[in-house]
Amino acid sequence: MTLFEKIIAREIPAQIIAEGNDWLAFHDISPQAPVHVLVIPKKAIPRLGEAAPEDVQLLGTLLLAVQEVARKLGLAETGFRVVINHGRDGGETVPHLHIHILGGRPLSWPPG
Ligand code: 5GP
Repeated sequence: MTLFEKIIAREIPAQIIAEGNDWLAFHDISPQAPVHVLVIPKKAIPRLGEAAPEDVQLLGTLLLAVQEVARKLGLAETGFRVVINHGRDGGETVPHLHIHILGGRPLSWPPG
C-alpha cells in the first residue's frame, strides 16, 4: 500500500478538505505555499504516465475536484497553480498520482 492509499484508508491521519466518490483532497504535510493541497484519485494509479484510456473520466473528475477545492479554499479569485510531478526529473516522491494545488501568494515562473 502506498502512503496515499493509507491516507485514503484512514490508516494515516491527514487534514482532509473534501472528498468525492473517486477522489480525496488533503493538506500537504510540507506546504510550499500558504495553501498547498493534494488531490488524489482513490484508484491506485502510480503516476500520470501510467493512466490508461479507461481513466479518461477519472482524470476529468480530478480536474473538476481541483476547481471545487480551489473555490472552497478561497483561491478562485486570487489564482493558484496546479502541478503534477512525474518521475525523477519531475520531482515525484510518492508513487500514487497526485495533483498539487498551490496558492495564497504570487508564484514565480518558471519553477526551479
Ligand atoms: P511529489 O513530490 O511526489 O510530487 O509530492 C508528494 C507530496 O506529498 C509532497 O509535497 C509531500 O510533502 C507530500 N507528503 C509526503 N508524505 C505525506 C504525508 O504523510 N501526508 C501528507 N499530507 N502529505 C505528504
